[in-house]
Amino acid sequence: MLQGTPLTLLHTSPLICSFHPNHSLNSLRFFPVYSTWQLLARGKKTSPENSLQECGKRVKEKQSRDIDYEPRIRRKRVTGRVSQERLQAEIERFAQIGRTAEGGVTRLAFSPEERQAQQLMGELLAEAGLSVRTDAIGNLFARREGREADLPVLMLGSHLDTVPNGGRFDGALGVIAGLEIMRVLQEQGISTRHPLEVVSFTGEESARFGTGTIGSRAMLGTLNLERFLASRDLHGISAAEAMRQVGLSPEKVTDAQRDPRQIAAFLELHIEQGRILETEQKAVGIVTDIANSTRLAVQVIGRADHSGTTPMPLRKDALVAAAEMVLAVEERVKALGEAPSVGTVGILHVEPCVMNVVPGKASLGIDIRDIDFERKARVVKGVKDRITAIAKQRGVEATIEVLGDGRPVALSPVIIETMRQAAADLGIDARIMVSGAGHDAMNLATVVPAGMIFVPSKEGRSHSHLEWTDFAAIPPGVELLLETLLRLDRSL
Ligand SMILES: [Zn+2]
Repeated sequence: MLQGTPLTLLHTSPLICSFHPNHSLNSLRFFPVYSTWQLLARGKKTSPENSLQECGKRVKEKQSRDIDYEPRIRRKRVTGRVSQERLQAEIERFAQIGRTAEGGVTRLAFSPEERQAQQLMGELLAEAGLSVRTDAIGNLFARREGREADLPVLMLGSHLDTVPNGGRFDGALGVIAGLEIMRVLQEQGISTRHPLEVVSFTGEESARFGTGTIGSRAMLGTLNLERFLASRDLHGISAAEAMRQVGLSPEKVTDAQRDPRQIAAFLELHIEQGRILETEQKAVGIVTDIANSTRLAVQVIGRADHSGTTPMPLRKDALVAAAEMVLAVEERVKALGEAPSVGTVGILHVEPCVMNVVPGKASLGIDIRDIDFERKARVVKGVKDRITAIAKQRGVEATIEVLGDGRPVALSPVIIETMRQAAADLGIDARIMVSGAGHDAMNLATVVPAGMIFVPSKEGRSHSHLEWTDFAAIPPGVELLLETLLRLDRSL
C-alpha cells in the first residue's frame, strides 16, 4: 500500500479526464477516483501520468460496455463523497484520548477514557444532526429519522474501547465511519426510508473483565449479568463498581435491552487484524462468517522429583507430556481441520518451575477456532483424545476442562451479496473472507441480518500500538459501507 497519497490527485484527475471527448464531466468524475483506489489496491506507483493512462483505459472499457454501465451510473446516488481528510482527522483526534507513551491507546471498558471517547462521539454526531442517547450499559446511539416512521432501523457502528496500549483503528474506525456517513448524508441532503442509527458499543474488548462484546450482548439480553457484574479487573475493581465510577447504574442494565425487531440490519466496518488483504493486495474484505472458539484448560499432574537422582525411565515429567500435547494440538488441527481451522496453546505454566526439579505439574490453555461448528467439534475431540493418550502413555494424569464452546456465526447472505454487487459496481477490489476474530456483529448476526467489511491491516498487526492502516486504504471501505447502507435501505 502507498502511504500518504496526495489528496490533490483525487481532485485534479477529474479535470484531466474531462478533456476526453463525448463524455460529460458528470458521468466521468467517478472514474479517476476508482482508478486511484485500484492503483492503491495493486500497490502501484500513483502519478498523474499513470492515473491518466488508467483513466483512459477505463473510458475505453466503459465505451465497450456502455449499454449495461449507464443505468448503473444513473442509479448511483452517492459515490466518491467520503472524505479521507475528515476520516483521518477524526481517527487522529480519538487517538489522543487515552494515548500511551508508545503512541498506542488505552481506553478500557468502563474507564473514564472510554466514557470520554463516547461523550465526544456523541457531540460530533449531534452536530451532524442526529439525536443522541446513552443506554443503561453505556452504549451510545445516534439516530437519524427516516421517511417511513414505522420501519425498523438500519444500524451501523462498532466500539471505542481498546485493549491496553492497543491501536487507534480497532473499533474506532467503524464508529468514525458511521459519523462520516452521517456527515455525507447531511451534506448531500439525502433522506432514507429507514431510520438510521450509529452505535458505539461499550466494552467490546474482554481485556478488563474477561468478558467481551458487553454492550451488544446487554442490548440483546444475552449477557450473563450476575457473572459480569461480579467479575473483577486486575486491580480488584468489580464491573459493577467500575460502572458506578463512570456514572452508570449496574441495577438498571436490563433497561439496555432492545427488541431485535426494531433493527432491520446491522453493518460493521473494521480493520482486518490479519494479513490476507495486504498479502493479496485487495482493497476490502467482505466477511461471510465469524469464527468462534472452544477453550480448554488442561492440567497435567506428574511427579516432582530431584533432577539429579531420578533416572530417565522412572520419571513422570509433566512438562515433557505437556510439550507433546502442544505438538499434538498443532498436528490434530492440521490433520482434521481445513483452512479456517486454527489451534493455539497460548498458556503454559510449569510447577515448581525450578532448574533442579523434574516438573510435577503443567497447565495449558488451548484455543481452537473455526467457522464450522461441527468441524470444530471434530478437531476438539481429536485434540482431547490425543491428550488422554499421551497422558496414559507417559503415566501422568491429565484433566481437561471446557471453558467455553462458542458457535461460529454466518453473516447475512443477502447483505454479502449486496456488498459484493456494490463493490463490483464501485470498482472496489473485494475479497470474500472469514473473520478469525470476534466482533459485536457476531452477536447481532444471531438475531438480525448483519454484515461486515474489512479494510487492510499493515502486517496484520492489531491489539498493539503498532496497529496501522494506511489512511488512503480507508475510503474504499467507508464508500462500500455507505453504498451497502443505501441499497439495503431500498431493498429491505
Ligand atoms: Zn474491534
